[in-house]
Amino acid sequence: MVLNNYSYKVSYRDIKYPRVELKTGRVLFVLPFGYNSDNLFEKHKGWIYKKIDFIEDCLDGAKSKGLVERSDEEFKGLIRKAIKGASLNLKVKINKVYFRKMKTKWASLSSLKNLTVNRFMKYLPEYLIGYIIFHELAHVIEKKHNGQFWQIISKRHSDYQKFEKELFEYWFKVSEKVGMQRN
Ligand SMILES: [Zn+2]
Repeated sequence: MVLNNYSYKVSYRDIKYPRVELKTGRVLFVLPFGYNSDNLFEKHKGWIYKKIDFIEDCLDGAKSKGLVERSDEEFKGLIRKAIKGASLNLKVKINKVYFRKMKTKWASLSSLKNLTVNRFMKYLPEYLIGYIIFHELAHVIEKKHNGQFWQIISKRHSDYQKFEKELFEYWFKVSEKVGMQRN
């Protein structure tokens, strides 16, 4: 991947807070109307380069990843099994499980403890499906990605950082296949 030397775009929208988006290879500043955009790249350079490094690393890692082909039935069975295991391990319960095609995340847990599973998870190896479900169910105990949260995760998955990174790699890989884009 090549980042056009320091090239970036600025988009003004009816929003409250400025943000930086980094889709593969292009930096986009999304700014509220009237926001002063001077030196934005300079100001966020450190963060941007770090992100670019990470993305390049993941794209590289994605090359050696293979997607799994399995039936929807088999996939749902794996999800059920993972939920059962994680519920027992964490001593938590969730309500409903929804399956949807999502463009920004692998899964999410609502405040009502309903779990939404991204259908594209179907292409992941079983251990990563298990990891995602464990991660989401741990959010029943702790909503934020803070120290306590990662402590809970590391009791079961001591190398969770490796898994989190792999999930980015697979995200690129699955994106290629189904044309989804992380916004
Ligand atoms: Zn999380």
